[in-house]
Amino acid sequence: MAGSLMNGKTVSAAMREEMKQEVDRLTAKGVQPGLAVVLVGEDAASQVYVNSKHKTCLELGYYSEVHRLPADTTESDLLALIETLNGQSTIHGILVQLPLPKHINEKAVIDSIAVAKDVDGFHPVSVGNLVIGDESLLPCTPAGVIELLKRHEVEIAGKHAVVIGRSNIVGKPVSLLLQRENATVTMCHSRTANMKELTRQADILVVAIGRANFVDRSFLKPGVVVIDVGMNRLDNGKLAGDVDFEDVKDLCAWITPVPGGVGPMTITMLMYNTLKAAKRIHQIT
Ligand code: NAP
Repeated sequence: MAGSLMNGKTVSAAMREEMKQEVDRLTAKGVQPGLAVVLVGEDAASQVYVNSKHKTCLELGYYSEVHRLPADTTESDLLALIETLNGQSTIHGILVQLPLPKHINEKAVIDSIAVAKDVDGFHPVSVGNLVIGDESLLPCTPAGVIELLKRHEVEIAGKHAVVIGRSNIVGKPVSLLLQRENATVTMCHSRTANMKELTRQADILVVAIGRANFVDRSFLKPGVVVIDVGMNRLDNGKLAGDVDFEDVKDLCAWITPVPGGVGPMTITMLMYNTLKAAKRIHQIT
């Protein structure tokens, strides 16, 4: 069986076209979706992510603000900026690029973002809404995983989904979203015993651990759908997923490549959340 590629670039492009139409509709009603991104310090990877978010905003016709603050910015100055953005009518989404410098309490910063503008979906109220199944802005990478599955018409309901990784930003929320889609979900982590026995039962396997090429064919049953969230920089500068793509691809019904699978979906879902937030704030259906 030759694995078919789940193409995150194609899905992203299609979603962005749909969003442009929505932006035109909102703009005609006097609302331009606006995203503020806050970057503290000069982390090279963060700079790339922030530039890419700004560029995507402009491509889609969003209003974009990027606040670049020096690495020695105090927590209270950062909180004051967020308070301003919370009250700013041109801004519907606020994203603070993580990680923050060590002297700033990340939790205090996330907690200070207005829930209505929490486009990362990391605020405890957003997380709580996700857990109880209420309407909320969903964390971008997990929401992107579900969107990839749906747009490739992968049946989720009734399937056994196994998630490796239990982080707050990927593993836990993706498990909840799969459960919401009526999958039966098993979660694995670094203390899971006999992990392969569990992963070999998976119809859908989501891997988010941050270890290059960790999952090989011995983890899989034939016909599985594999979603590789991992993004690991190798010594040779290349990007590798958590799944050994070459080793497993012939076993899978579908598999996401790295790069070009889950990666492109994350920014697209951020744009989707910003649009959704703008519509909710202005009560546009
Ligand atoms: P994280 O916070 O470091 O969490 C890693 C999780 O994997 C933990 O729950 C850990 O278990 C588990 N784990 C580690 N080694 C394991 C092993 N040998 N066996 C089983 N479980 C193991 O990582 P993260 O933020 O979720 O990110 C995971 C990966 O996804 C990274 O490569 C990251 O770069 C990538 N990522 C990609 C995107 C994207 O846009 N594509 C977005 C976010 C993250 P314990 O809880 O027991 O320690």
